[in-house]
Amino acid sequence: MTYELNDKVKNLVPYDAVAGEYKIRLDANESFIDPGEDFGEEFLTAIAKIKFNRYPDPMATELCKKFAGCYGIDPACVVAGNGSDELITVIMGAFLRPGDKVLTFSPEFSMYQFYGEIYEKTNIIEGKREDLMLTSGDVLDALRECKPAAIIISNPCSPTSLVMSREDVLHIVENTEALVILDEAYMDFSDQSVLKVAEKYDNLILLKTCSKAWGMASIRLGFAVSSKKIVAALHCVRSPYNVNALTQAIGCVIFSHPDYIKTAVEEIKKSREHLYHGLLQLEEKGSVRRVMKPDTNFVLIELEDAGLVYDELKKRSIIVRRLGDYLRITAGTKKENEVLLRALFEIVV
Ligand SMILES: *Cc1c(COP(=O)(O)O)cnc(C)c1O
Repeated sequence: MTYELNDKVKNLVPYDAVAGEYKIRLDANESFIDPGEDFGEEFLTAIAKIKFNRYPDPMATELCKKFAGCYGIDPACVVAGNGSDELITVIMGAFLRPGDKVLTFSPEFSMYQFYGEIYEKTNIIEGKREDLMLTSGDVLDALRECKPAAIIISNPCSPTSLVMSREDVLHIVENTEALVILDEAYMDFSDQSVLKVAEKYDNLILLKTCSKAWGMASIRLGFAVSSKKIVAALHCVRSPYNVNALTQAIGCVIFSHPDYIKTAVEEIKKSREHLYHGLLQLEEKGSVRRVMKPDTNFVLIELEDAGLVYDELKKRSIIVRRLGDYLRITAGTKKENEVLLRALFEIVV
């Protein structure tokens, strides 16, 4: 008999990365700032030096050193990945056994659950409070109750846009035996990072990405930061040349400009506040049920009829992310925010 797709993969549909051309893309939480505009020449110079016939540096040494330099951490506690998505798959695949329980919450980043299923974990998904906040008490209760091998959460959280305090996060890490996979994809927009102390814990893996604040979604680059013990194990289980030479070269250029991210984050936060205050006006009018106070580069709103609003925006060539009764809207340029807000006023008021 020929090979048959197994049940796990037979009926999968691809991640709904938006296909088609839209005038305004506010769906994927990318940065609206393109570093290519400032550093294009430097990127080209770096790429010209690549020996294209050779494999890249398997340890991405220079890249990790420069990344660590930007954040003031020890490069020996850093592993680079082909996006943080790759690192999640490596951790799920190698650090946990089939059937192991993995705790996460809902709403959370949908990929956690997806990878849990693909790598044959037992997903445990706890609901969140009405205010969508997560407290260390809630998390520790859930950990005690289900005794998972690992817990995976994003902080600040996508899609809720809310942040948990540094103290709460460390309280969780210090009071559980589970492996804590902490995704700080959006922490550049907030101020509750535990990055600087991540190396102290043998049960914490912190994930960072270049796809959001750094504005480098195109090159697929993410990092895991953890203790030397965990980092050594991660190096053993990842594929040997997981970060290609172009990404390493371009990454080294961008991390040589630590001031760039500071200005970028300031600009993006300004845009987020603009979007947030515009959306609050809709909430005041009662046209939007709820607007979450964001610690991210996007705003989450709850609506009576999210589906209809989503479709109406799409008709106007504006794409956002819909999750049930919620729309998650990335902060765009001032102009993009204005077009979106005007469209929303037309649709819901
Ligand atoms: C965007 C995002 C990532 C980034 O993944 P990459 O593979 O590095 O692009 C990771 N986690 C969360 C919660 C995200 O929103």
